[in-house]
Amino acid sequence: MADMANDNLIELKHVRKVFDEDTVVVEDFSLDIKKGEFVTFLGPSGCGKTTILRMLGGFDVPSGGEILLNGDDITKLPPNERPINTVFQKYALFPHLNVYDNIAFGLKLKKMAKKEMDEKVSAALEIVDLEGFEKRNINTLSGGQQQRIAIARAIVNEPELLLLDEPLSALDAKMRKEMQIELKNMHKKLGITFIFVTHDQEEALTMSDKIVVMADGEIQQVGTPEEIYNEPANLFVADFIGESNIFKGKMVGKKKANFAGYTFDCVDDYEVGTVIDAVIRPEDFMITTEEKGQIKGEILSSDFKGTFYIVSVLSGKNEIEVHSLKNYDIGAKVGLCLEPDLIHIIPYDTSINHYEAMLGAYEVERGLPVQFADFSWDIDPEQIFPGCQVEDGVLMDAHGKVIETEGMIVDAFFSPDDLDLSDDAEAGVVTGNILSFLYVDDHYQYTVRSESEEDYVVNDEDLWNQEDYVSIIIPKDKVVYKIINS
Ligand code: ATP
Repeated sequence: MADMANDNLIELKHVRKVFDEDTVVVEDFSLDIKKGEFVTFLGPSGCGKTTILRMLGGFDVPSGGEILLNGDDITKLPPNERPINTVFQKYALFPHLNVYDNIAFGLKLKKMAKKEMDEKVSAALEIVDLEGFEKRNINTLSGGQQQRIAIARAIVNEPELLLLDEPLSALDAKMRKEMQIELKNMHKKLGITFIFVTHDQEEALTMSDKIVVMADGEIQQVGTPEEIYNEPANLFVADFIGESNIFKGKMVGKKKANFAGYTFDCVDDYEVGTVIDAVIRPEDFMITTEEKGQIKGEILSSDFKGTFYIVSVLSGKNEIEVHSLKNYDIGAKVGLCLEPDLIHIIPYDTSINHYEAMLGAYEVERGLPVQFADFSWDIDPEQIFPGCQVEDGVLMDAHGKVIETEGMIVDAFFSPDDLDLSDDAEAGVVTGNILSFLYVDDHYQYTVRSESEEDYVVNDEDLWNQEDYVSIIIPKDKVVYKIINS
């Protein structure tokens, strides 16, 4: 069979990176990057963006998986043998060398002829818009100019791939905006592939052909800026990119969703009864009179933001954020309207808060032991085997058949509404740190990661901070068990 034309420059296949034997920083990361694309890795601090970039540059070797460049395995190739250059957050220029010598540094190592070197340096300076700066001393340049020199030094080697690790973060807001436009222009002029790392969503949305949203070493969504913004794949992406109102709800008819106490027409078609999250951007609500509104509420606050007002509307228990060009009086009664295609429906992730556990042998004095990854407890066997009975210390089903519980695997479900957080480590059965949180309806939805790396979703009205060390209170009698295998 003829080889299919493949325009991928880079293929990351199931890449994994583990530090210190057990700290998993990148997990099963697979991604194709096409020739000439401007790709941005976007995600919160610590999600593994730099680690991926370092593996692409050859500064770190993956613990698993492979990296292909033009179809060839480069997973273990040293940095200087890859046609890849990196621009770092800190410019890392040599302060004692002038602009020319900084840019020509790599070319000199290659022992390039002086004339050719002069031409390449001046061409690189032209691309970064600093023609004639060859003789300038590095210390006499502004931050923005130094960053441009750092870029010139990277592109003078004519790499196939340029890696940019938060290159604009040291610049002030205005210079940063200018450099964003210039980087886009450079990308067009050079025609090479750029991989850009940032935790600034606006920067990612304005600059990229393709955005890779990451959290916790894993890809959350890959798409164009429009796809990521308008069709977030999950609540993390919806919350991380732009502002979002998130409502819990249910599909109640064909393309009809009920949330915030009202039923709306929408364009997403999910089975009736499906539990959903409805995501609505603050700029997508229209404020109207109370009578005309699909949602009715009262103005809680209105704050001017330069070009629009951030208006908070209280409807029932829900606080809804709306962006409006008009100011509203606090206390005014208003209505909110929504176009069907501005409601984005995400089916509820039914795998949330399901945990595998193993049963032990039933003992009359003790009950039925259940061993989870993080903790164990003894329960009333009735919770798993309704109608069961105990005779002479032996557990039997309703028909008198002995139940051998030892080694049986069950699925346990803890509803996020039933769980509570406490700062007293002894109060609950599991402890961990708050990994992330969202505001949903009228409460916060926290994800807590335990020491054994299990995630627990907890709905709580109190405000906790990211990283807070908390204990999770799980009411034993509210847990729903299902036997997986016996
Ligand atoms: P930032 O935006 O803050 O730079 P990032 O998304 O680039 O964050 P990384 O720098 O890739 O994140 O780090 C991901 C995780 O890996 C962090 O928790 C970090 O502490 C850890 N990490 C990175 N390098 C090492 C190392 N050499 N040894 C141990 N842990 C490391």
